[in-house]
Amino acid sequence: MGKLIAKPSLREQVETSDRLMGIAHKYRFRYAELGRERISRFWEGGQRPRKIVISPALGLREFGANPVSGDLPGDAFTVTCREGMTLDSVGEAALFHALHNLGVRRLECHGRGADRTEARDSTLRAMDSFPVWGQIKKIARECGLGLGFKQGKKTVGVHSYYYYFHDDYFGEKWAVINEDNAHSIRKPAGGIVDSVPDALIIECSDARVMGKQIFEGIDIALVSNWGNVLSEVALDAIEALVKEGLPAVVILGHNRCDAIYAAIEGSTEERFEPLMRMLEANLAGSEMNSRSLAAVRNINSCVDMLSGDKKAKGAGSHRIRRVARMMEGRGTIAFSLYADLSSGIIMSFPVEPNWWKD
Ligand SMILES: [Zn+2]
Repeated sequence: MGKLIAKPSLREQVETSDRLMGIAHKYRFRYAELGRERISRFWEGGQRPRKIVISPALGLREFGANPVSGDLPGDAFTVTCREGMTLDSVGEAALFHALHNLGVRRLECHGRGADRTEARDSTLRAMDSFPVWGQIKKIARECGLGLGFKQGKKTVGVHSYYYYFHDDYFGEKWAVINEDNAHSIRKPAGGIVDSVPDALIIECSDARVMGKQIFEGIDIALVSNWGNVLSEVALDAIEALVKEGLPAVVILGHNRCDAIYAAIEGSTEERFEPLMRMLEANLAGSEMNSRSLAAVRNINSCVDMLSGDKKAKGAGSHRIRRVARMMEGRGTIAFSLYADLSSGIIMSFPVEPNWWKD
């Protein structure tokens, strides 16, 4: 049994969502600081991330690690893996998209390791202790690429990987960091976080969407997957945190989403199949003549499912229904937000239809 947590009152729930939305709505000022050139490049040219970042949603919280610290919107295509450092089928689709369609050739992996021995003995042994490497190699091969420390035309370069572990000797929490193949040990920059986050954000892997920046100043946990869907990894995180008393789940969508476009265009790419099935269920019955409306429908379908709406498409999944019941029992709210990449305006619903842009 989990800890006994008092269910929040309706008033507390409203205050939680007001607070989160209030912060998100201010994001446009910081987004504008990126400059007109960068923003119009985002808007006109689509995402062109420099690197792929793979990390678990919760496993690094206790180290205070932020895998995208120092990155700007547009830099990092982020994929959240399972706590055990493997990708689910939606994560595999995301990685394939980044390597195959977006042509990203740099990769970074942040994970929690068992102890310092593996990391100290050998860089490669530490790397191999992340089961996700096997998946990355396989998907890279499917894209006609190798995996190595050097980045080349035909290679995915392992830019750096971060291996976090507890160090009993120092009685502290340390990270082993491998950067450009140099081996070093240092203390993580962040402070130790062991409280329940104020919200869990389910965002798109898209490099232009950065939940960490949108909710700056708030303690959030983050799941990034391609198309911001209720993937296995997303449901794992919701379940784990709701048990601890998580106040809110936010589904964060955006316009010009590659995943939504792939679903609308009926992509037949084999790697995308499990994701396409999810998106098609979420989008069923929506007007497909507007891609932005489809993106809005996608996030609202996820919220409907988490709110236990029996009419919601895809709500037939046994696991989603169980998670929805759990959220209701604990008083965890779910709502959607939508990022307009042309302005950095984060919208909540209902909004005026003329806000929607294609
Ligand atoms: Zn997207």
